[in-house]
Amino acid sequence: MPKQKVYYFSPRANLSDVSKGQSLFEEAELNNCFNSGDAVAIKIHCGEWNNTGYLRPSIVAGIVETVKKYGGEPFVCDTTTCYIQSRGAGRDMIETAARNGFTSETIGCPFIIADGNLGLDEVKVPVNGGNFLKYAYLAEAIANADALIVLTHFKGHPSGVYGGSIKNVGIGCSSKQGKSIVHLFQHPRWGLPAYIFNPEKCKGLNCPVNKRCAENCPTASFTLTNEKPYAKWDRSRCIGCLECGLRGACGVVVKPKDSPIDEFFPAVISDAAKAYIDYIGRDKVGFINYAIDISPQCDCMTWSDAWILPNLGVFASKDVVAIDTACLDTADKMPGVPGSRVYDEGLPGEPWKAGNEKFTHIKRVPLSQWMSVNAAIKIGLGSADYEIVEAKPGPRENYLPNRYKEHPPGYYMRKAFFTHKPRIESESYLDVEKVELKELQGRPVTR
Ligand code: SF4
Ligand code: SF4
Repeated sequence: MPKQKVYYFSPRANLSDVSKGQSLFEEAELNNCFNSGDAVAIKIHCGEWNNTGYLRPSIVAGIVETVKKYGGEPFVCDTTTCYIQSRGAGRDMIETAARNGFTSETIGCPFIIADGNLGLDEVKVPVNGGNFLKYAYLAEAIANADALIVLTHFKGHPSGVYGGSIKNVGIGCSSKQGKSIVHLFQHPRWGLPAYIFNPEKCKGLNCPVNKRCAENCPTASFTLTNEKPYAKWDRSRCIGCLECGLRGACGVVVKPKDSPIDEFFPAVISDAAKAYIDYIGRDKVGFINYAIDISPQCDCMTWSDAWILPNLGVFASKDVVAIDTACLDTADKMPGVPGSRVYDEGLPGEPWKAGNEKFTHIKRVPLSQWMSVNAAIKIGLGSADYEIVEAKPGPRENYLPNRYKEHPPGYYMRKAFFTHKPRIESESYLDVEKVELKELQGRPVTR
């Protein structure tokens, strides 16, 4: 089998990051994923409220322009989160996305919530040959698009170990139900049905976060009462968002000690990714990974931490496994950024050193960064046998705003300058400068 091609721009390539994505889109022939007039979903992560690590809207706008250039009808999308925070409902997510800079004005096409306001709009799709799942739940708008461009910020992830294209599909394209399934929250032996409920441990109104517990369960199946035991949990109406289970520190809802859901999660992602890519069509899905601003955790966090690696570059491929493998390999070759998470004392595996795995040991509980990739290979989702193809930028004119392609921008200013009659204002300057260059050099002297 021939090696899978991964097209690549180094971070030093003399081209803007926006233009790199546009150029790679063409080199990897992602335009062949759709025909003129086709609806093209561009899946992004719009970032959590107050996160700053997500891909800049101008990078997304660049891909939108390129899809349009080839006749596609793009829409940019993300999906509601399983947990109920600032992206738990579509209405909140649109507000968060706008605060982070994603609006139809900034990206050049509609931004939509692909699984609807409550995350219930989905298509149940079979997982052929999955390691864990028989079915996965694909966000409806993505399922009904003609093609999918997966535009991913490559970084670390507290549950997935790293976040790349496999995760942007397997979790990112899942509906709310789909995410809960992939997280194994609804697994009969390991998930919420098996969680231990200790209502007697609940402090009720004496607990500082009681309001959140009392009000944040979206189905009101977890509630607080005024009488002991304060906590009530009606599992028959629970949808497995794990909003209550995530607050397990108080000991009221506790994951069984032998539950492997956290360990298996990165591998389950690959099952769902395969289901969705098979459903849309292998030749209808393309991948672009931006390995820049590489945070140790995900863009789902309300902060971003110091970047753990220097920018690695931009990658594009039609093979989801090859592109993630190329990013992980490139990350491992690089030394980490001093002062960042990879340098934290006591981390095994010396992740700060060039040649060592960068993500395996930076989670609270270490887990191999290769779980998703290995699981994906096992189910035939793609190949880790790839070759890097250094991309070549097209002519500069390709990356100019459309309105300046006929004439350069100065041309359009001429009429106004003739009206305003500007002149050289030499009287603005002193005759003799009062400072010498050498006075301005070096740190100021302080006591
Ligand atoms: S369930 Fe836990 S976090 Fe919630 S109010 Fe009770 S003690 Fe507090
Ligand atoms: S009881 Fe179920 S639906 Fe309610 S917050 Fe907990 S996991 Fe979510």
